[in-house]
Amino acid sequence: MNSILPSNQTVCTACGMYNPPDASVCEGCGAKIEARSKRSSFDTGAHLMVSLTIIFVGAMGFFRYYPPGKLIWAKGGGRYHSTDMEVFIWGIFPLTIGSLYLLFAILLKIKDRFFS
Ligand SMILES: [Zn+2]
Repeated sequence: MNSILPSNQTVCTACGMYNPPDASVCEGCGAKIEARSKRSSFDTGAHLMVSLTIIFVGAMGFFRYYPPGKLIWAKGGGRYHSTDMEVFIWGIFPLTIGSLYLLFAILLKIKDRFFS
């Protein structure tokens, strides 16, 4: 089953022939074809970026509102005291989710590197 789109096929670096995506040896010249891991490494890279972004947002929120009762400058002017809920929602919650996500992304990267 050949697709007219070359995107899911493997191009031989030696002769330029299109091969099935799961081919390990080129059908044209017999050269060894490197297993493509480009797509999965992009996925793990994206996971890492997203998790680090969530952690960054959580850290910003944490330092903005922690400790509870801290005087916060409101956007529209005026000041108020931060609450436990704000520290949790904007700080601790994204930090926890981000850390778990980062752990997941690291495990995915390790799995990609050593078990694929
Ligand atoms: Zn070839």
